[in-house]
Amino acid sequence: MIIIGAGAAGLAAGIYSSRSGLKTLIIEEKLAGGTTGDAPLVENYPGFPSILGSELADKMVTHCKKAGASLHELEEVTSLDLKGEKKIIKTTRTEYGAAAVIIASGARYREINVSGEKEYKGRGVSYCGVCDGPFFKGKRVLIIGGGNSACITTLYLSGLAAEVFVVHRRDAFRAENALVQDLESKGNVKVLWNNEVKEIKGNKVVTSVILANIKTGETQEIAVDGVFVQVGESPNSQLAKASGVETEEGGCIKIDIRQRTSIPGVYAAGDVTNHPVMQIGTAVGQGITSALEAYSYIRRPYYRK
Ligand SMILES: Cc1cc2nc3c(=O)[nH]c(=O)nc-3n(C[C@H](O)[C@H](O)[C@H](O)COP(=O)(O)OP(=O)(O)OC[C@H]3O[C@@H](n4cnc5c(N)ncnc54)[C@H](O)[C@@H]3O)c2cc1C
Repeated sequence: MIIIGAGAAGLAAGIYSSRSGLKTLIIEEKLAGGTTGDAPLVENYPGFPSILGSELADKMVTHCKKAGASLHELEEVTSLDLKGEKKIIKTTRTEYGAAAVIIASGARYREINVSGEKEYKGRGVSYCGVCDGPFFKGKRVLIIGGGNSACITTLYLSGLAAEVFVVHRRDAFRAENALVQDLESKGNVKVLWNNEVKEIKGNKVVTSVILANIKTGETQEIAVDGVFVQVGESPNSQLAKASGVETEEGGCIKIDIRQRTSIPGVYAAGDVTNHPVMQIGTAVGQGITSALEAYSYIRRPYYRK
C-alpha cells in the first residue's frame, strides 16, 4: 500500500493499513504532519480539549510509525501511473510499485498576498471559521470573500463575534441565494462592497485592516481582532488528475462513500477530496475508510466490483 501525503488523512490511513498487516509506505514531500501542524491551537479534535497543532501532528506521526508504517519524508511524488493492476509511483528519489494507492495530498488555502497576512497568520489571520471562530467570541472580525465559503463563514461567525464585517471586491455575492438572505438578516453583519484589503496591521496580534474602495480609491482603517480569508482552496490533485483520476471543477478528487476514486484500487482521503468538510476529524475518518477499503480490495478480489 502506498499513501501519498503524511497529514491527518494519510497518517490515519497508515495506522489502519499497517495494523491490517499490509506493507505500508507513506511518501511525504515535506516533514510529516501536514496542515494539522500549522494549526496554532486545536480545540475540536475529540480527546484533546486544547492541544497545539504541532503537538497533535507529532502524536499522529509517532503513532503511525509505531503501528509499523514506513515513512519517507522530504520525498515528493512526481508522477503516477494508476491504470494497471500494479500502480507505479515515481518520486524525486525512485520508483515504487503498489497494489493500491491512497491519495491524501491535502489542499492549500488561497492567500490574498497583502502585507501583514503572513506575519499575523495564526495571530488573528485565519483561513477556517470552524477551526478558529470560537477564539473570537464577542470580538470584531472581518471576512474576505464573496462566495459560498465566505457567506457560510460569516453566518457561523455572526453567532460568535460581536461585529462581523465582510469585504467583497464586487457589488454582489457569488453565493447561493438562501445563504445571502440569511446573511442579510443578521443584525451584526456589515458588508463592505467594492472594497479590497490592502494591509493587515497589528501589534503581536491583528489590530486593524486597511481597505481601499475599488471604485473611488478611498481608503479606510477598520479596527478588528480577526481576519478570515475565504477566497477558496486549491486541492493538491494535479498528479492524480494527470493520471486519469476524475476530479470536480475546482480540482477536488471525486470519491464515493467508500473513498473510491474513478480508478479501481485508487482511493482518496482528506482535504484533496470533494468531501464538504475540511477538518482534522473528517480527514482522519476518511483516511480510516480508505485504508480499510483498500485492504479489502487487495486481500479479497471478489470485493472489487
Ligand atoms: C492554519 C490552519 C488551522 C487549522 N485549524 C484546524 C482546527 O483547529 N481543527 C480542525 O479540525 N482542522 C483545522 N484545520 C484544517 C485541518 O488542518 C485540515 O482539514 C486537515 O489537516 C487536512 O488533512 P489532510 O491529511 O487531508 O491534508 P494535509 O494535512 O494538508 O496533508 C497533506 C500532505 O500531503 C503532502 N503532499 C502533497 N503533495 C504531495 C506530493 N506530490 N508528494 C508527497 N507529499 C505530498 C503535503 O506536504 C501534506 O503534508 C486547520 C487548517 C489550517 C491551515
